[in-house]
Formats: sequence, structure tokens, C-alpha cells
Amino acid sequence: MDNPSRIILHIDMNSYFASVEQQANPFLRGKPIGITGKNQERSVVATASIEAKALGVKTAMSTWEAKKICPSIMFWSGDPEKYSDIMHRFNTIYESFTPHVEPFSVDESFLDITEEAEDYFGATCMAQAIRSRLHEELGERITASIGIAPNNLMAKLASGHVKPNGLTVVRPEDCLKLLDDSELDDLCGIGPRIKERLHAMGISNFKQLREFPRENLEHEFHSYGTWLHEAAWAGVRSPVVGFSEYKGVSQSSKPTTGDLTPDAKSYGHSYTLPENTSDACVLKRYLFGLADKVGWRMRRDNVTARRVTAFVRFGDFSSHGEQRTFHEPTADGMQLFHMAWRILEPICLVDVRLIGLSASLLSHGSTQPSLFKKERNMTSVLSALDELQKRYGSGVWKRGATLQTEFKSRSSGFHFDHEV
Ligand SMILES: [Mg+2]
Repeated sequence: MDNPSRIILHIDMNSYFASVEQQANPFLRGKPIGITGKNQERSVVATASIEAKALGVKTAMSTWEAKKICPSIMFWSGDPEKYSDIMHRFNTIYESFTPHVEPFSVDESFLDITEEAEDYFGATCMAQAIRSRLHEELGERITASIGIAPNNLMAKLASGHVKPNGLTVVRPEDCLKLLDDSELDDLCGIGPRIKERLHAMGISNFKQLREFPRENLEHEFHSYGTWLHEAAWAGVRSPVVGFSEYKGVSQSSKPTTGDLTPDAKSYGHSYTLPENTSDACVLKRYLFGLADKVGWRMRRDNVTARRVTAFVRFGDFSSHGEQRTFHEPTADGMQLFHMAWRILEPICLVDVRLIGLSASLLSHGSTQPSLFKKERNMTSVLSALDELQKRYGSGVWKRGATLQTEFKSRSSGFHFDHEV
């Protein structure tokens, strides 16, 4: 079981894109609307308004299917810039309650309020206070569901329990009960394919998953099996990393010596794929290309990183991301890639829409010269290539492994791609 003294809030905006549009435009209020991308061929309902959901429209439904179920639905092209602007506004509100805020997606954040709330009563009061601030500063249409629990995983499960506008408190002693009242794929990290595989193994609920021998899960799913076992016991713990670290760094930063402050910065890239894919080779190539871009920018700024965060967003707009820490800091795209792929490989990579990584826990100065000749050689090759890049631009060299990978810039559809 996780350390019972931690208290995590998960705040999830209800029908986020649709609520933002309804707040901005009174004409859309009280009506079933669906927010779509600009690219008609790939158009699915990214968010349905609360009114459309009540009539059976679901996220990720194709527009024609939504129209069939709900003929009065109105489609509205999404405005990613507006959504990410409001995302910054609500995260700034959260930051006035605790410095430990981690955005999980464009409309969800985790807050570690262990110190600020002290106990679950304090946490409930804080949740209500946050809700009032959202109401005052963003408007009455933009509502949130809130889960309070001893770790991120349980808090996220809790916030999904009552929607819209719910507040669900799950104390440590109630976690297993919450799991037993949930479906396997209600839990973030268990997708439909994993659910199917578990079913085939005779596991159809969390009680059975908990009782299933851990070694057998590990035999079937490797490290993901360990995660499944811990999740069934409600014990998965991942730290809330902090909003500022997530927000990233601007292109220039003043050189200082030693570690940057923990709230400092990160270097990251993400990319929305030209079409959704489940092909691991394709994903690996893109990830490698992104890692090289991140590595190059870090070396240019004479910065190294000790942590990598890798993340994917799926076709249904759900997402998954995790981070790992290196023993030695690095600015080598190859090492960043290997670590990021170790994070993503065990995940069920089906119908992936966006892939990305970021490097954080930064220090100024280049890495220590390695004791190993092969690595020293690699470092000198990289600095020679970096010199070329400085002179002739960032497209001047490419690794063989990423030759077929082209990063197209597109202006339509939903992209929350960023260069942070
Ligand atoms: Mg939401």
C-alpha cells in the first residue's frame, strides 16, 4: 500500500473543449454540441457537450455516427490555442493552492496537497475552494470533477466516479473497495486490449487481478505485469512533478553553475502523427527523431538532463506518460531515446495519435568525459555533427534509423504539439 499520508487531488474538467466554447458563446449554451478537428477526413468528436453526452454522443465517435444518434448536434471546430490558454489559467489557480501541480493532459491535473491539506477534511475544503475559484475566474460553464485519494492512480479513478461536477473522496482504507466497484478498463493504464488479454486469463475484475500470482502476470506482461499487480493493490505511486518543470524552458537560459532550481525547465518535443498507428517500428522512428531534436537543443545550450518523460496520446484522446531518471546526466539523443522507449514499450501502443518526450532535471555544462572509448568517440562524433548543424541548420544530418521519418508541419486538426 502506498504511503497513506499522501493526499492527491485529480481535477478533470467536464466536457472541456465544449464547455470552453459554451462559456465563450452564449448561443451554444444548453445545446448538444460536438467539438471536432478542422480536418474533415479525420473528424471525430473530440469532446461532446454535457447535453450531447446525455443524448448518447461519446468522445471519439465519428461525426456521422454522432449525427445519426443525435440529429440536432452542432459541430464546432476546436481552437487548441484557446484551450491551452485556459489550461494555463486553471493550472495557475491550482498553483496558488500548492506548488506541486502536474498537468496530466490539456484538461486534467494532479495536485499533491499533502502538506497544505493535512487531512482528508482539509483536502475536501480545499477542493471546494478550488471549485469556487474556477467558477469565479473562468465562468460557470467550466466545471470540474475532483477525486481525492492517496496516490495519482486512485485519485484519477475517483474523479471519474461521479461526472459531471463530482467530488469523490477515497481514503486509503477505501481504495480496494473503489477498485472492486470499477471495471478493469476504468483504471488509467488498462486499455481495451489489455482488458481482453486479462479476460482470456480468467481475470475480469480487480479482486481476481489481486489474487492472481504476481509472477504469472510478470511472465505474461513483463514489467507491466508488476505494475498491474501493484495497481490491483492500489499501490502505484508516481510523484507529482510540478507544473513549472512541465511547462518547459524558453530557447535561451542564462548560464549558471550546478543544478538549476527544481522548478526550472525542460526540453521537449511532441508530434501528432499523420495518421494514428499501432506500429511499434513507426513509433520508435518518430521517438528517435524527437529525441535527437531534444538532444541537439540541449547540447546547443550546453545543458544536460537527468530525467526523461515519455508520453503518448491515443486516438480516444486518453494519454499515458511516465518518467525515469538517469544515473548520469546526458544530452545524447540516443540515450534519451533508449530511456523513453523503455518507458513506452510496455504500454499497449494501439491507435497512437501523438508521441513525445521531454528531458528535465537540468544542469549546465556538458557531461563528464566517459571512461569508455566507444562513448568518448560518440561524443566527438556528436560535437562534429553539432558544428555542422550550427553552420547549416537543423536538417543537415539524420540518423539512418530515422531516414524515413519526416516531421511535417500541419495547420489543421488538433495538435497540442509544442516545442518547450
Ligand atoms: Mg475531462
